[in-house]
This record gives sequence, C-alpha cells and structure tokens, in this order.
Amino acid sequence: MLLENKKALVTGSSRGIGRKIAEAFLSEGAEVWGMCTHESAGKAELEKLAADHGTKFHEFYADAGNAEQLTAAVKGALSEAGGFDVLVNNAGITRDTLSFRMKKEDWDSVLAVNLTSAFLVCQIVSNDMIHKKTGSIINMASIVGIHGGAGQVNYSASKGGLIAYSKSLAKEVGSRGVRVNCIAPGFIDTDMTKAVKEDIRKSWVEGIPLKRAGTAEDVANAALFLASGMSTYITGQVIGVDGGMGC
Ligand code: NAP
Repeated sequence: MLLENKKALVTGSSRGIGRKIAEAFLSEGAEVWGMCTHESAGKAELEKLAADHGTKFHEFYADAGNAEQLTAAVKGALSEAGGFDVLVNNAGITRDTLSFRMKKEDWDSVLAVNLTSAFLVCQIVSNDMIHKKTGSIINMASIVGIHGGAGQVNYSASKGGLIAYSKSLAKEVGSRGVRVNCIAPGFIDTDMTKAVKEDIRKSWVEGIPLKRAGTAEDVANAALFLASGMSTYITGQVIGVDGGMGC
C-alpha cells in the first residue's frame, strides 16, 4: 500500500475532489483527518472504508474562512495525530461574477477560504514536518490560476496566489525534507461545476483535447502520486489534471 502508516490531513473532505482524495488515501492505508464545515453525508462510509483497510478516518469541523476557528481546529487535529506526513489544502469556494459587479465581500471570502486558509494550515502543519524532516504538502489550485478566467477574478487570483505561495514555500522548506506541490484541475464534475448550464458545459467539453470533463477520481490519483513515495524528487510543481485544456 502506497501510504501505509502515513497520517494525512485533507481539507474539504466531505464532497467532490476532497472526498475522493480521502477515499484514495484510506484505500492505500493512510489514517486520514478530514475537515469540512459540518458532519458530512459520507462520514460513516469513509469510516467503514478505513476499517476495511485497517486504518481510521476522523472528521472534524471548521470554517476555513474563519482564521481563529481554523487555527484552533487544525492545531487540535495535529495534536491528536501527533503530526501529519501529508497535507492536502483542498477546501475551496467560488463567488463568480464580472469584476465590475463583484462585491468586496465576495473577493474577501474567496481569498480567505482558497488562499489564506492554505497559508494558515501550512504554517501549523509544516512547522511540525520541518522538525521531522519529512512531509508532502499538496495545494489544490486551478487551471484559471494559470490562465485566468472571465467572471472569476477573485477565484483566479486566489488560485494564482496559491501557486506562487506554494512555489515560494517549496523553496523555504525543501532543505528540511518537505515537498510542496500544486494540482491544477481543469473542468471536473463536482458540486462546484454542476450549476454550469448544459450548453456551456458542452462547448467547454468540446474544447478539451480528451473530450470529456474530469472526474474527482482523476484528481485524487494525482494527489495520491504527490502524497506517496512515487514523487520524492518532485517539489515546487504544478500538475495539470485538465484533459489537455491548459496545454
Ligand atoms: P465542492 O464539491 O464544492 O467541495 C468543496 C469542499 O470544500 C467541500 O468539502 C466543502 O465542505 C469544503 N469547503 C467549502 N467551503 C469551506 C469552508 N469555508 N470551510 C471548510 N471547508 C469548506 O468542490 P470541488 O469541485 O470538489 O473542489 C475542490 C477543490 O478543487 C477546490 O479548491 C476547488 O477550487 C478546486 N478545483 C475544482 C475544480 C472543478 O472543476 N470542480 C476545478 C479546479 C479546481 P462542506 O461540505 O462542509 O461545505
């Protein structure tokens, strides 16, 4: 098993991509602490999956946009776990509208949940990883963090910031054995993208070289690779999981 005896923290583990990452990690033997805002519909299933693989799933709750709540919750999980080998900052939101219509609170909330929360969680978790001289941090960016996206200036800025942040952190902590990478998904079928109208979805899919939307499993597979011993010489990178959209 790729993550036997490893401990992982995954934010945004209740649904979509984060849920599939939690499943992939548990199936490879990791003990997983999953964070979301409230008890998830899949909690019992994840606990069973963990038991089936001889490990444990722990769900805990915090609003990633609330620095105090987030910090207290992550410190609690870290002390319960006694340290994490893998951290996935995956929790994310959109508040899309054209820039000239965007309210400052929609700018602030997206930056807080998508970017500032990753900084806060990394600060707590990486401090411990540095002392143990090992760890893999995976930050969930987006293709629009590289190429931009109309109607998403707040979201694109948060993801572009997350990429620059991750590359900078990789340079700071590499000599201590800690790796930091980003995944940049393209168009993935989850709750986040289900509001997209069918005709727009069709035209997007037409523009994807692999001619399909991605699945949460497609992204989870990349996270598993970056979390595991298969990627020990990879840091400061952005792995696109986008069917060729960004090429
Ligand atoms: P999703 O289905 O909407 O799930 C979002 C997850 O984030 C949920 O677990 C949710 O928990 C959690 N979350 C949201 N706000 C939170 C908050 N304030 N505090 C704590 N947890 C919070 O989204 P997804 O599509 O899986 O996206 C996961 C990540 O991939 C995000 O960072 C997103 O930006 C990125 N991404 C997605 C796509 C895509 O096409 N889907 C493309 C590029 C990048 P609750 O259930 O408690 O709300």
